Amino acid sequence: MTAVPAARRIVIVGGGTAGWMAAAAFGRLLGPAGIRVTLIESDDIPTIGVGEATIPPIRTFHAMLGIEEDAFLRATGGSYKLGIRFEGWTRPGEAYVHPFGQIGTDIAGIPFAAQWLRVRQSGAAGQLDRYSLEARAAESGRFSRPIANGDSPLSRIGYAYHFDAGRYATFLRGQAEAHGVVRREGLVDSVEHAAGQIDAVRLADGSRIAGDLFVDCSGFRALLIEGALQSGWTDWAEWLPCDRAVAVASVADAAPLPLTRAIAERAGWRWRIPLQHRTGNGYVFSSRHLSEDEATATLIAGLEGDALAEPRTIRFATGHRNRFWSGNCIALGLAAGFMEPLESTSIHLVQSGLQHLLKMLPLGSHPAPAIVDRYNRVMTAEFVRIRDFLVAHYHLNARTEPFWRERAAAAIPEGLAEKLGLFRAGGRIFREADELFNETSWLALLTGQHAPVAGHDPICDAVPLDAATNRLAQIERVVAASLAHMPPHTDALARLNANRPG
Ligand code: FAD
Repeated sequence: MTAVPAARRIVIVGGGTAGWMAAAAFGRLLGPAGIRVTLIESDDIPTIGVGEATIPPIRTFHAMLGIEEDAFLRATGGSYKLGIRFEGWTRPGEAYVHPFGQIGTDIAGIPFAAQWLRVRQSGAAGQLDRYSLEARAAESGRFSRPIANGDSPLSRIGYAYHFDAGRYATFLRGQAEAHGVVRREGLVDSVEHAAGQIDAVRLADGSRIAGDLFVDCSGFRALLIEGALQSGWTDWAEWLPCDRAVAVASVADAAPLPLTRAIAERAGWRWRIPLQHRTGNGYVFSSRHLSEDEATATLIAGLEGDALAEPRTIRFATGHRNRFWSGNCIALGLAAGFMEPLESTSIHLVQSGLQHLLKMLPLGSHPAPAIVDRYNRVMTAEFVRIRDFLVAHYHLNARTEPFWRERAAAAIPEGLAEKLGLFRAGGRIFREADELFNETSWLALLTGQHAPVAGHDPICDAVPLDAATNRLAQIERVVAASLAHMPPHTDALARLNANRPG
């Protein structure tokens, strides 16, 4: 038997969402090239078990893996998601939706955002939600996949999913194993490394698993990237001070909305994620401002159906590894870093890390420093831009509780200060390079949170105010007409199960 050549053995440590996403991607894309992929997970260390709301790019990841949507949604008890509704983030009683997809359309070649802001200043524009098919459908419990007709807003529907995290890992495991990934059950209890390179991991049963490239998906433990290689940690508690979540599942809604809810509370916020078989609930909070008991009581009081288990508390730190990639080890998932799930970005960051990695895959077990440096730079920038988006939700609030007053008064990161400054000066929004959140997302956030804005972009005046106002009214009518063609979300879910293969 010939030996496997160098750089052809990838070892993944951890079998949570991150580990199995990596395994499924490597198995499918690198398996045919003869690269051997082994995943080690311990039955004694549970996965985090939350992480159930996603954003639209996940559909690209699934397409890359050849995952069939219906089969995936059936296997994971999944539902569709058209956006996130933020409730009480500015002040109690107010709400807005951050919808997926596009809001409105350009007006005479001028971006919708600029024209809407201008017409709004004249008092003649409706709430932003009225120009977004996804926002209206989400609130009214309707869903359809995009249709083939290229002109209708129904052809551009932006959507993602909610799913059961445990079932998702199992589903991906099936995909990975079908492509030759080998799963090893066992507890990693030491890491053999020298000069910043990992040679092998040793399991508690004494076996040794050697590799050329190691992927640390061991969750908050970060066994390889931190435990062995001490890559360092950048802490963001200063910007995002929530450090605990208490989570519990409750009985499923009869008619789940295709929408994640993020409900502001005294010292943080609650999530509500409707699946087919249950609803996920949690309260993300700052332990400086609220005890675990108080958070649990609020969570339980806010449930809209009976709890299905005892609530459990998850402690976390917000920030990221100084080096996501160090030597021949790359961290993904919670081992790489964490930001609270306010905009459902963690699973996306796993996907994004994988996609960058697949473009930069090292040809040897000693990757070129230029590749490693680029990966680290790109991932750091991605984390930073998402962080700024999250911080804006906290900064722009008019709530009265001490936690919220502290957040409104706290210093904000430079990048966010610049974004707010540009918006204030005529409603300008610029997307930075490959930033995850586009102009539409920033528009929904900044206007939903009442970010101050003065004047409007003078380019709008190329279109008479009356004409822009009429065009907005027309867009609103097209959205309403399109909405009427969308069936209830429950029909879409029922169809999944009706179409179940024999
Ligand atoms: P884990 O799930 O913790 O898996 C770690 C794995 O490592 C396990 O398989 C374990 O057995 C293994 N392991 C650990 N130590 C050893 C060892 N010594 N030997 C062998 N194996 C070992 N993300 C979203 O995108 N959307 C959300 O809505 C969302 N909500 C969240 C809510 C909360 C409160 C939290 C904390 C996170 C949330 N996330 C969310 C993030 C999401 O859960 C994670 O990004 C995702 O699940 C990836 O986790 P992981 O695989 O990195 O880690």
